[in-house]
Amino acid sequence: MPELPEVETARRGLAPKMEGRTFNHVQLRRKNLRFPFPKNFIRRLQGVTLDRLSRRAKFLVGELSSGETLLMHLGMSGKFSFEDAASPAKHDHVVFTMSGKDKPVIIYNDPRRFGFMELLAPGDVGRMAKLGPEPLSNGFSGPVLRTALAAKKSPIKTALLDQHIVAGLGNIYVCEALFLAGISPLRRADNVSPDMCEQLCAQIKKTLQLAIKAGGSSLKDFAAADGALGYFQHQFQVYDKEGAPCPKPKCPGSIIRTKQSGRSSFYCPDCQI
Ligand SMILES: [Zn+2]
Repeated sequence: MPELPEVETARRGLAPKMEGRTFNHVQLRRKNLRFPFPKNFIRRLQGVTLDRLSRRAKFLVGELSSGETLLMHLGMSGKFSFEDAASPAKHDHVVFTMSGKDKPVIIYNDPRRFGFMELLAPGDVGRMAKLGPEPLSNGFSGPVLRTALAAKKSPIKTALLDQHIVAGLGNIYVCEALFLAGISPLRRADNVSPDMCEQLCAQIKKTLQLAIKAGGSSLKDFAAADGALGYFQHQFQVYDKEGAPCPKPKCPGSIIRTKQSGRSSFYCPDCQI
């Protein structure tokens, strides 16, 4: 599933082909993804310029010259690619042809169709309204995290996946950051000390930045917009490493897997307390 670094990688791939360009042609190859496309989706995009493509959590946010916002989410298996000529493949659901000399053709492909596209009225933030702080922003810090966790009796792993506490974190990066911070995923959220919160916050930022630098993780369904595969998965310390020796020097432990809220947690019971 695309996580924050993958979405940021997609954004960086798409921005040069979309920003400051007009939607010359929009083609929908079906009526819905996870949700139906907005009413008059094609008419509301064609002839409109995408001024800026930004990211909030796992949403791609396109500011349009019409005043509306194009909100795009990759769901479980969504990805963008570029084609020289429109030659639709299976699961290609949306085709944007942008203006410019090169007339880029941008294809949205999504086999499982958990992704979606929406148009928001000026000033409306839609599904982004209840998101917690952006993990890479200054608004996310040790004290902010500590405050958000203070009333949470759930395990820290579960709390970090709660988008109200911090936005855009998924299973992989939470497992990795908890390992690097030396905190057990089973520890109760309200029992994570201020010092631990500092450490955890720093490791979350570091893990995400490394992954973005590496171009996201290319787990099964993800490819960056330009088709290049990320390689962050080769740097995983614990994720999907059940049975492997703990990578921390001098730690005698090995990585175990457990289920929390239906998701696998990977951690070292010897050095994550
Ligand atoms: Zn260990």
